[in-house]
Amino acid sequence: MNLAVKDRPKGDTKLPQAIKKVGIIGAGQMGTGIAHVIALGGYDVALNDLKKQVVEESINTIEKFLSRQAEKGQIKEAEVGPTLKRITYAPDMEAFDDCDLVIEAATEEEALKRKIFTTLCPKLNDRAMLATNTSSISITRLASTTDRPEHFIGMHFMNPVPLMELVELIRGIATDDKTFTIARSFVESLHKTVAVSEDFPAFIVNRILLPMINEAVYTLYEGVGTVEAIDKAMRLGAHHPMGPLQLADFIGLDTCLSVMQVLYEGLSDSKYRPCPLLVKYVEAGWLGRKTQRGFYDYRGETPVPTR
Ligand code: NAD
Repeated sequence: MNLAVKDRPKGDTKLPQAIKKVGIIGAGQMGTGIAHVIALGGYDVALNDLKKQVVEESINTIEKFLSRQAEKGQIKEAEVGPTLKRITYAPDMEAFDDCDLVIEAATEEEALKRKIFTTLCPKLNDRAMLATNTSSISITRLASTTDRPEHFIGMHFMNPVPLMELVELIRGIATDDKTFTIARSFVESLHKTVAVSEDFPAFIVNRILLPMINEAVYTLYEGVGTVEAIDKAMRLGAHHPMGPLQLADFIGLDTCLSVMQVLYEGLSDSKYRPCPLLVKYVEAGWLGRKTQRGFYDYRGETPVPTR
């Protein structure tokens, strides 16, 4: 870190930041959104995924989204080019050696995330902070796989990242105060608002949201309503901007299932049992929007319910 965050005048984002370069692992929907807002915030970004093509697609998506933001007057046209220039492809973990912060945003599987941290840590410089965007997995457990649990934090962005105001910050048992302060200042510099959650399965937002979605899938499974009826009921009857099944497709059904499994196992309470129909969709590879099919089929002009 170049400058302690407390030394920076409040609201002045032009002074040197405590964090200059951020590594992101996973260029899926979340990694893409996170790279977008961080680069737009003036930081350099190194973006990694299993294949170069995924990162290229991710950068294309960011370019489209930035152009749309410029058309709508939400950002200046002149910001688009420099923002894109700040994002580079990281072919491997060595590319993160000059990062001040690395955010892991890979698939929601604990074994996979543990492996990433084990491979990553020896490549980092000793000042680097680590964060995970996990939706549900224990921050303390993930931190324990690293060589710096005191400099590890949960930084849970919401989807779609450029539009959602909130970021949950979650300390692991070892996270020190300085790491928390820097993480908070960093998130606020992206014009996001922080909510602090304790390290319990699925934290705050998903502890409440995912059981609601799982219940909507049970409602479908038991034949209480059709896909359309359930979504319409919650949109018009509870004023949710999106129906719960539409939202599940948007989040990704594999992510929804993983979060329910973490809740079920982590809290040992049968009320969190993942709906068998959700399991079936995931087993079919119908993961929602990202695979073009979930509770709706997105391959045509308008989404068509699949049940
Ligand atoms: P996604 O499936 O869109 O993307 C995951 C990406 O990780 C894929 O591109 C995959 O190739 C990549 N990946 C897998 N293993 C990797 C490895 N070893 N190294 C590098 N890249 C690897 O999933 P997503 O929705 O972007 O979710 C990513 C993370 O963000 C998960 O932990 C998820 O729980 C969390 N999250 C998701 C949402 C949501 O609404 N989808 C919201 C908040 C947080």
